[in-house]
Amino acid sequence: MPVPVVQLPRRVLDGFGFASRSVSMISRPACAEEVQATMKQAAREGHTVALRGAGRSYGDAAMNGGNLILDMTGMRAVLAWDPASGVIDVEPGVTIEDLWRLCLRDEWWPPVVPGTMFPSIGGCASMNIHGKNQFALGGFGDHILEADLVTPAGEHLRLSRTENPDFFHAAISGFGMLGTFTRIRMQMKRVESGRLSVEQASVRNFDEQFDYFEAHHADSDYLVSWVDCIAGGSGIGRGQVHRGKYLHADEDPEGKALLDPDRQDLPGTILGVPRGLVGSLLGLFNFNLGMRLVNFGKYAASRVSPTAPYRQPHVAFHFLLDYVPTWRSAYQPHGFIQYQPFVPKETAKQAFTEILRLNQARGIVSYLGVLKRYRPDNFLLSHALDGYSLAMDFPVTATNRTALWEMCYDMNEIVLAAGGKFYPAKDSVLRPQDFRRAFGQQRLAAFSDLRRRADPDRVLRTEWAARVGVDEPSGSPHVLGER
Ligand SMILES: Cc1cc2nc3c(=O)[nH]c(=O)nc-3n(C[C@H](O)[C@H](O)[C@H](O)COP(=O)(O)OP(=O)(O)OC[C@H]3O[C@@H](n4cnc5c(N)ncnc54)[C@H](O)[C@@H]3O)c2cc1C
Repeated sequence: MPVPVVQLPRRVLDGFGFASRSVSMISRPACAEEVQATMKQAAREGHTVALRGAGRSYGDAAMNGGNLILDMTGMRAVLAWDPASGVIDVEPGVTIEDLWRLCLRDEWWPPVVPGTMFPSIGGCASMNIHGKNQFALGGFGDHILEADLVTPAGEHLRLSRTENPDFFHAAISGFGMLGTFTRIRMQMKRVESGRLSVEQASVRNFDEQFDYFEAHHADSDYLVSWVDCIAGGSGIGRGQVHRGKYLHADEDPEGKALLDPDRQDLPGTILGVPRGLVGSLLGLFNFNLGMRLVNFGKYAASRVSPTAPYRQPHVAFHFLLDYVPTWRSAYQPHGFIQYQPFVPKETAKQAFTEILRLNQARGIVSYLGVLKRYRPDNFLLSHALDGYSLAMDFPVTATNRTALWEMCYDMNEIVLAAGGKFYPAKDSVLRPQDFRRAFGQQRLAAFSDLRRRADPDRVLRTEWAARVGVDEPSGSPHVLGER
């Protein structure tokens, strides 16, 4: 019999951006049976339950203030690994880092990784996360072969493309609102070297950015671009693209040694500065003028940096932000939000230009911009489409909160008018009307039908799902700051 929810330990939890914070009761189940019993107990006591992996979502997607959080990091076992086929079975608390450390030695790499190695596989599946190769290999869900899902209604569902396919395609991208993944089976990607071949190109504005992506996405394995969101005029959208390609064993004999995971570890210093200090140094520039200087310096350096391909270990290429473990503390005490719209390729350049102009006109600019390319997928509430995303980090200050949210609502209008979508893992500002327009009545109705079966008593809840009105697709629930 699980402990009554009110007697469970309480903890203050943040979104990764520190801009959302609340207190919840915490339970850390060790097996699927415990997950089910705890959800049942919470329902009996009238509490709602949110699932939480590594808590790497930027906003409130894994938060549930005043209620219960199921911390899934207690289920972190690798259940089976077959180095011959690259198929792995894991519990949901296993992390991206656990995966590559185990598989790389056998010449496999996770096919889709986010910009940090710390997220859990359950969190990645639930958000159907993307990597810098979404345009080439699709999202995380495209590499899931099978999963087990425990629902609040008490069902243990086996999900695949042939078994309960409706739940398979909705729980992946379903932000933890259809049940708890308790096992996930995935196909890893074969690699022959511990390194990638990487090429960089400095681009003078959005015209050159988009031309580069369109010219190169068909023959690249990874593409990602840093965008200076502060530059205006004819330099709007300038930045630096990085293009990665896999290396065959005969192209990179020395890269074989780097298949040893211990040889992948990130260096202790960046430009001679200890990694741990870089975050504090960044803090010194963390205001509009300081960041204008940092962005200008980075762009100027890109103009003179070599364009010839170089070799880079997988970990250094993918997990740049993990180089600087304390970077987000530069945004303390009020934190920051990430705003990442996804816009079709036909309208993306215009929409992103309008967005940057709006930011500059309002004097609230993003300190970091990242552009990526996507293709559509089959998951019900996926953010993927044939187009682009521009991820932007906006600092929250003691005085800008209202103006920042107002500006985000105006950006939402630009994105929706351009036929775009949003991504729950990065969202802090979406309102019910934006959510409904982005995903469409038909998809939301299909999701509600599955939710009625999986969770008839509405036990699963997150602050994000309540804010955007997941259970009121045509209604108008309470929303902070709605105008
Ligand atoms: C520095 C940084 C870089 C990032 N880069 C990228 C990127 O490049 N691409 C990208 O797509 N994302 C990126 N992200 C976002 C991150 O990949 C997602 O937020 C991911 O979902 C985090 O996983 P998590 O384990 O921390 O999940 P959490 O944030 O804890 O939870 C995410 C969602 O998963 C649900 N959930 C958790 N466990 C389970 C489970 N067992 N069963 C069902 N649902 C569950 C939660 O309820 C919640 O809705 C980045 C985040 C950071 C901090």
